Amino acid sequence: MNQPSMLNHVWQPYTQPQTAPPSIEIVKGSGIEITDRQGRVYWDLISSWWVNLHGHANPKIAQAISDQAKQLEQVIFAGFVHQPAIDLAEQICDLLPGPLTRVFYSDNGSTAVEVAMKMAYQYWYNQGIKKRKLYLAFEGDYHGDTFGAMSVGRSSGYYEPFADLMLPVKFIPYPETWPGDEQVEEKEEKALAHLKQLLEQHAHETAALIIEPLIQCAKGMRFCRPEYIQAVVEQVRAYDILVIFDEVALGFGRTGEMFVCNKLNITPDFVCLSKGITGGFMPLSATITTDKVYQTFLSDSYATAFSHGHSYAGNPLGCAAGLASLKIFKDENTLSKIQQIESIHRTELKRLSENNPVVTCVRVMGDIAAFNVNVNQSAYQSAVSIQLRQAFLAQGLLIRPIGDVVYLMPPYCITEAQLYETYEKINRVLAAL
Ligand SMILES: *Cc1c(COP(=O)(O)O)cnc(C)c1O
Repeated sequence: MNQPSMLNHVWQPYTQPQTAPPSIEIVKGSGIEITDRQGRVYWDLISSWWVNLHGHANPKIAQAISDQAKQLEQVIFAGFVHQPAIDLAEQICDLLPGPLTRVFYSDNGSTAVEVAMKMAYQYWYNQGIKKRKLYLAFEGDYHGDTFGAMSVGRSSGYYEPFADLMLPVKFIPYPETWPGDEQVEEKEEKALAHLKQLLEQHAHETAALIIEPLIQCAKGMRFCRPEYIQAVVEQVRAYDILVIFDEVALGFGRTGEMFVCNKLNITPDFVCLSKGITGGFMPLSATITTDKVYQTFLSDSYATAFSHGHSYAGNPLGCAAGLASLKIFKDENTLSKIQQIESIHRTELKRLSENNPVVTCVRVMGDIAAFNVNVNQSAYQSAVSIQLRQAFLAQGLLIRPIGDVVYLMPPYCITEAQLYETYEKINRVLAAL
């Protein structure tokens, strides 16, 4: 047994306990720093799995949660309501494209996706159309780990044991690209032709398309062009298929805009938000839809109601944290901070790739920077990823490569000096490969 006794009872996510290096026990956080029991400090450059926005233990958000906890910690959300939930819903709708006006709360990204998928299906069902049971998704998308979310995300490659238990889904090719990619237009054309064929065969039985727009995060920060998303959405909408944007990872500023749908000038029928929604403090999520969808659930009968809910839906502490986070965006001009991060990513990544021939497919958008480490032996990719992770940790950096992809998605409070130093240390690690 190489695990210390503190792990006798804990089962950790996405971990093979028998071979994993010992877990690091974190006792406090501040800004981008997290500190372990021995006093070692790590810089959290992946926002703790993409949830943290304004730094760990941000005092303003901590205060808002503390104030709310002393006032009202939780209340049943059917038949009862509270101000933080009302205010957060209103502010989120103000930030999204106009037609998105209805917020349904749940408590994590996967359930936000389940809710959108179920609402999309029932949108048709309530209108007497029961044959639209199919979903469309991009190859390689990740949408969460519950069964519906897994089904539309099954080509992400995480779900081998559950392959026989999935909902019907058809996949659209994802023309991954990077600066200097000369094949991109050809790839997109092929993908769109494939989609056209799919639609001719299956549009009449399709409820919705769900996508991770612009960047497939969990698959390794794979970018595609805005033009492609726009063309796909246009094609499926010609068949009245509903469009779901899964912005669980990218919402709240990661791409440099508050939401990807704003960046793309597309109003989807559903937007799923979670991860950053509370600044990274509390489990909360939201599925936002249009009045057009909402209206189809209204009638004199419960039979058309959305018969779905979670115990902690609209939790007041989460909503208070969400409101405090949005206030920080305004008060501290966070979006312009993200622009500065983006510009440092660009110059530093360029230098990194000039100094290290193993660095390829460099890509940057907003807070996110990514590149591939070209090690030539794909069989060893996962070994390389663990080797890199340990080498970064030794430098005091929390960076978790996905296969051969190294990426940064730092909390927005990272200072310029910290970001420059991060790249210096990455350079050191790569030089020693
Ligand atoms: C993380 C993620 C989810 C799932 O969110 P959880 O809170 O982990 O359930 C869904 N979609 C995307 C795009 C994500 O990155």
